[in-house]
Amino acid sequence: MFSYFNTSRVPLLAETDILVVGAGSAGCVAALAAAAGERYSVMLVERYGFPGGTSTQMLDTFYGFFTPGPAPRKVVGGWPDRVVDELDRTGDIFLRPNTYGAGTGVNYNPERLKTVWDRLILQHGIRYLLHTTLVDVAAEGERYACIFWNKGGFYRVVARRVIDASGDADFCHLAGFEYERAGDAEPAQSLTTTFRMSNVDLDRYERAGGKRMLKEKMHEAVDTGRHPLPRRDGSAHEMNARNCISTVAVKVAGHSALDAESLTEAEVEGRRQAFVYEAFFRDSVPGFEASSIIGLSHQIGVRETRRVYGLHRLTKEECMAGRIPDDTILLCGAPIEDHRQGRNGEDETHWEYIPGHGVYGVPYGTVVPRGSSTVWVVGRCFSATHDAHASCRSMAQTMSMGQAAGLAAVQSLVRDEPAGQVEAGGLRDRLRQIGAVLELPETVADTSRYGWKRKQNVNVGR
Ligand SMILES: Cc1cc2nc3c(=O)[nH]c(=O)nc-3n(C[C@H](O)[C@H](O)[C@H](O)COP(=O)(O)OP(=O)(O)OC[C@H]3O[C@@H](n4cnc5c(N)ncnc54)[C@H](O)[C@@H]3O)c2cc1C
Repeated sequence: MFSYFNTSRVPLLAETDILVVGAGSAGCVAALAAAAGERYSVMLVERYGFPGGTSTQMLDTFYGFFTPGPAPRKVVGGWPDRVVDELDRTGDIFLRPNTYGAGTGVNYNPERLKTVWDRLILQHGIRYLLHTTLVDVAAEGERYACIFWNKGGFYRVVARRVIDASGDADFCHLAGFEYERAGDAEPAQSLTTTFRMSNVDLDRYERAGGKRMLKEKMHEAVDTGRHPLPRRDGSAHEMNARNCISTVAVKVAGHSALDAESLTEAEVEGRRQAFVYEAFFRDSVPGFEASSIIGLSHQIGVRETRRVYGLHRLTKEECMAGRIPDDTILLCGAPIEDHRQGRNGEDETHWEYIPGHGVYGVPYGTVVPRGSSTVWVVGRCFSATHDAHASCRSMAQTMSMGQAAGLAAVQSLVRDEPAGQVEAGGLRDRLRQIGAVLELPETVADTSRYGWKRKQNVNVGR
């Protein structure tokens, strides 16, 4: 393993049993699942000033809890449910009835979600450090010395077990584990700056034809060149806040989120496109005349960068076969949703649904980097091909990977098992005890569990 630093000269900040790098949806849940046993010290380190990663930087809907279609099955449970329950307590969620696209979504207030993550992390005695970025890794005996940078300088954290939840597999990259870069084999999924608009008259919008009308207006805007939108579809939906909508519409393709110069260009382009949409909405869509952008995503949204080669690599064939293997640690029923640029340069989104009962199992080996005995990798950098990843990246699944890896790290310490030899039966028993769903549910989901506040759905193109 190559290290840029003479690590012994870097001040020691902490020694911990389990270190989680990155406090996105996967990392927060990994830390919570690991800490809940109260037996081992857990540290969670995040480069930004708030937790949640993509879940709070730019989004407001958890997908992947339910399968799509008219008879949804609930395929995720455990810690992800607890997070939703916390949001429910303060009335900060509603279900987005959606029997197409990605299935029923759990819409939340992302600012409230930040405080939910904060509270759960602190309640569980996790050592929590924000504004601190992992920059290097070295071996220190049997343990890893992770070098972090923050405004105070460089610091060393020595850990017995590491869970890489950085989204970009920064730990695995620095520690020398192998991975595929998005774009190497298939075109990388495009990048999206999300934006929110306030002062939208949704009644007027609905009376004017709702999503059918919006789709027509988008086609017209592109075909006449009146508004140079990057694509003919996209989605906008009502938020938890009154008269506000949130969008996933901007598309920036052909850039690498691992190259700062390319990413800089993408950020600038994403912001530019957002205001092209604002002009379009105000000018062309009834109900939006007096609306305006009130917020852009904290950074441009990145769907994939590095995908680590694990003991098992999830493939499209496995997803489509609907297999639920014996070492399944989570279920997924989300379709392949691949945002990419078409041959004529125009954006297209490729959708492909899981046939049959519509669910597949994700094996344990997908969260264990090849050659690792003390490291796990969770969230959008887990081990999968491009297509399989395009299905298994919704936040209910990234949280589920986190909960499985958190429990696996604890089990490996308790039983002195290397990461690759964690006994799956024991891990699955623990997962079931905390409420994870590992078998196909026989009954249709009772969506009233989360209450059902009806909200208008402003989706287009789904
Ligand atoms: C535009 C867009 C729209 C999407 N829409 C939906 C949707 O509607 N619903 C849905 O369920 N899913 C959606 N997804 C997918 C889903 O949001 C992501 O796959 C998921 O949130 C990834 O979670 P994660 O925890 O793996 O990674 P991230 O959310 O990326 O979290 C990684 C965390 O690690 C931190 N970090 C990174 N590097 C370092 C470092 N070196 N040191 C310290 N910290 C570091 C980051 O700051 C971040 O907080 C969307 C994704 C995108 C990009």
